[in-house]
Amino acid sequence: MNHSTGQPARTVLVTGGNRGIGAAIAAAFVAQGDRVAVTHRGSGVPEGALGVTCDVTDTASVDAAFTEVEEKLGPVGVLVANAGITADGLMMRMKEEQFLRVLDTNLAGAWRCARRAITPMLRARQGRIILVSSVAGLHGSAGQTNYASSKAGLVGLARSVTREYGARNVVANVVAPGLIDTDMTAALSEESRQEKVGGIPMGRSASAEEVAGAVTWLAGPQAAYVAGAVIPVDGGLGMGH
Ligand code: NDP
Repeated sequence: MNHSTGQPARTVLVTGGNRGIGAAIAAAFVAQGDRVAVTHRGSGVPEGALGVTCDVTDTASVDAAFTEVEEKLGPVGVLVANAGITADGLMMRMKEEQFLRVLDTNLAGAWRCARRAITPMLRARQGRIILVSSVAGLHGSAGQTNYASSKAGLVGLARSVTREYGARNVVANVVAPGLIDTDMTAALSEESRQEKVGGIPMGRSASAEEVAGAVTWLAGPQAAYVAGAVIPVDGGLGMGH
């Protein structure tokens, strides 16, 4: 039983759920009483979650991860495609490999997982896919032509999934975080961090738990009619986009 909604527990799969935003999302679903699986690439998993190894750039690995979750926890009713990387650099110096590597993980990786999730969701006549994008996807970000392109692509992916399967109660939504305190942003220099915080109307970064709140809401009954939406969790950083 999901304690927050009073509805039967669902099987939730969070990619890259071993750390950062993904781990916080997984923990929030565990706290609600859902059955939660996270993908990892050899590291630990949040307490109460099932860990399955998966590299989202590999179709066979994605398929095997879903199959293991289905066998152990039942069909995936909520997919959170969170796994993502950066490989920043100004476009004039960016290697094509650097561009494609980020697209392959962030955009094609989410597409592979969503494609694998769809058929069982249609069979169950319900499914929620939540794609973790970024403020950079709509706002643009100097030094991140690869990352911003991949994150913008997730909006088209979510809206196309919703148009294809919305009538059968399978929809996708996007969460677009701003500056969140994780390993990904720990790599920023203090100067660059201060500059970014200076552009945020709320004047601060956020915790991964603040992103998790939006994700669990999107997966729950209170957001039952929210489809193809982009929900910013950015302290106002991307307002107007
Ligand atoms: P982290 O770098 O802390 O974690 C990234 C996660 O993605 C890890 O679990 C990592 O696994 C996983 N991952 C990376 N590549 C792959 C792959 N090929 N296959 C499977 N898993 C993979 O990042 P965050 O928690 O900060 O970010 C999570 C998501 O949120 C990302 O999509 C990011 O773009 C997005 N985001 C983050 C923001 C921020 O400020 N932090 C802002 C906006 C969006 P492993 O541990 O094995 O490396």
